Amino acid sequence: MPLYELTIEAAADLLQRGEISSEDLTRAVLARIAALDDRVGAYLTVDREGALEQARRADELRAAGQATALTGIPLGIKDVICTRGLRTTCASRLLDNFIPPYDATVMQRLRQAGAVVLGKTNMDEFAMGSSTENSGFGPTANPWDLSRIPGGSSGGSAAAVAANMCLGSLGSDTGGSIRQPASHCGIVGLKPTYGRVSRYGLVAFASSLDQIGPLGKSVMDCALLMNVICGHDPRDSTSVSEPVPDFTRLRADGLQGLKIGLPVEYFEAQGLDADVRQAVAGAVATVEALGAETVEISLPHTQYGVAAYYIIAPSEASSNLARYDGVRFGVRREDDGDLLDMFRRTRSAGFGAEVKRRIILGTYALSAGYYDAYYGKASQVRTLIIEDFRKAFAQCDVLLSPVAPTPAFAIGEKTADPLTMYLSDVFTLCANLAGIPGISIPCGFSSAGLPIGLQIMGRHFDEARLLAVAHHFEQATDFHKRKPEL
Ligand code: GLN
Repeated sequence: MPLYELTIEAAADLLQRGEISSEDLTRAVLARIAALDDRVGAYLTVDREGALEQARRADELRAAGQATALTGIPLGIKDVICTRGLRTTCASRLLDNFIPPYDATVMQRLRQAGAVVLGKTNMDEFAMGSSTENSGFGPTANPWDLSRIPGGSSGGSAAAVAANMCLGSLGSDTGGSIRQPASHCGIVGLKPTYGRVSRYGLVAFASSLDQIGPLGKSVMDCALLMNVICGHDPRDSTSVSEPVPDFTRLRADGLQGLKIGLPVEYFEAQGLDADVRQAVAGAVATVEALGAETVEISLPHTQYGVAAYYIIAPSEASSNLARYDGVRFGVRREDDGDLLDMFRRTRSAGFGAEVKRRIILGTYALSAGYYDAYYGKASQVRTLIIEDFRKAFAQCDVLLSPVAPTPAFAIGEKTADPLTMYLSDVFTLCANLAGIPGISIPCGFSSAGLPIGLQIMGRHFDEARLLAVAHHFEQATDFHKRKPEL
């Protein structure tokens, strides 16, 4: 087996037994990137020399008996996470030249664990989108069908994992941006509970919704990454001091006695593709065969989720993105005019169409006279959605649902119609509004051979259970074993 095909778990084992070196492993993955990424476009920046140096350092650490499970493992990092000394663009022309002077907390943790950073992955500009088509540097293709989108906004991260151009990666999820691309690329992606992972050094989109999480080839690989990135951080005031379990130790928990809720609103949703419906129905049968009990659950305010999210997220974005004025960060556009003129030129040239749409939408929703009608109302709806989940989790342990209403759509198919694009987030964004964790795992293929994901949502801080359920499902099925041919 070529080294780039290894899971993190398998590579860590071979590294530990001294059968491979991190340098060999990293070279193999870098060669894979060099061979494929012209066609896929998963990376915005590849740090070849830096990665090899980190790999050699990892090999030294291991030789000195100081290795952890992630020591020497090559990863791709979404370009919305600050990496010290390594260009971080958020896929925005405005940050084309931004080199962070510091590492995000998750990066500090990964580096401390000895992980190797291959480079920065493509995304929708400032994480706004569901297809990676909003990148200021061109789209990413889905490794399963290069004419289709990989999902978004962490499309580069998901495509890189699916195409073996990294062993695992980090993404961010504000309304589905880890789970939906994981679903479209046939891999595993976990959005942790809000507050579980520090947002320090994550470029802010919508601060009350943003969360960093892992994307991997297996559930176990996501657990290994979670073990490193989770935990309290005094530099993020919303980070919690909840104890962090060893996420990899839950392999023995079976599904016997588990109560699984099936939210009727998610299965009756308009526009739910027949192949997706069938794949998720198959997954329900599988968990029942594994001993879980399923019950129908109602989340009655689901239908208002998209509307509430697309007020709250742009509102927070309009405020967060005010800092990009050409003064401190990124590219400045100057002419003969005054300061205001410089702001206007910089923002007009630097931001793409979708980012501008969100800023305008958010500024409007927050403006005097409209605040109560829009932002205030959306916040009330958010509370109702939180209540829906609270009641549901009084009746069941986890919820099972589709991740996205359709498999990956064609590049260009939805770009002219933002509303259709927004509607593709209908099953994922309620978890962000409520702050609960959700995971996407492979559960089938469409008639066209495209991967379909299953979403499992759980109570706050119950990621260990999500990972255990997902792991048992994975072990009982073969969907994760099929790979795209490139
Ligand atoms: N697709 C959603 C949006 O465009 C979610 C993006 C995300 O999770 N970052 O806002």
